Amino acid sequence: MARYTGPSCRLCRRAGEKLFLKGDRCYSPRCAIERRHNPPGDQTNRRRRVSDFGAHLREKQKAQHSYGLMEAQFRRYITAAFERSGTTGLHLLRTLERRLDNVVYLAGFADSRKQARQMVLHGHFHVNGVKTDIPSCQVQMGDVISWKESDKTRQIFKDHTEGIPKRPLPPWLSLDQQQMTCQVNALPADQDLPQGINSRLIVEYYSR
Ligand code: SF4
Repeated sequence: MARYTGPSCRLCRRAGEKLFLKGDRCYSPRCAIERRHNPPGDQTNRRRRVSDFGAHLREKQKAQHSYGLMEAQFRRYITAAFERSGTTGLHLLRTLERRLDNVVYLAGFADSRKQARQMVLHGHFHVNGVKTDIPSCQVQMGDVISWKESDKTRQIFKDHTEGIPKRPLPPWLSLDQQQMTCQVNALPADQDLPQGINSRLIVEYYSR
């Protein structure tokens, strides 16, 4: 699966806000958004007003980059969301939130979604006791995400579980700090979905 390999901070500067793509650095004064507010590229004769299309495109790209997805995969998610009854934007966000790499990130086992994706790909996690190395795997209600048993004596486990929980956990997940497992208690409710993404603009972008 193709993935973006360019500078992460450039994506935040393009979006004009923090997308939290780099773990601890995003919370430090070294964050590129803290240091310079201008978008990337040559600023000479830059028009300041963002067009209607530009606003829709930016919102789509913001969601896409936040979850580390390329256009083809993102388009598959929105196409599937369009085919379901109900609010398309909510279906889309719910699908994004239920990706295994996102759950690993939310649980605090990884510092960023990008790192979570790599750790899942490297086979560090089991879902209900079964090794699962597919970052896009959709977690279900009742699933338990655990570390591979042999990792528990390795430095990587210590490095990634020390000081957990590092971030507030959404209500649909719970953490067992003894076993270092994350349980999916429910599917994300509307109020648990990321508030910083305007899904209506994304749906309108793909409805053109
Ligand atoms: Fe974005 Fe993090 Fe880079 Fe800041 S440090 S610009 S939040 S990726």
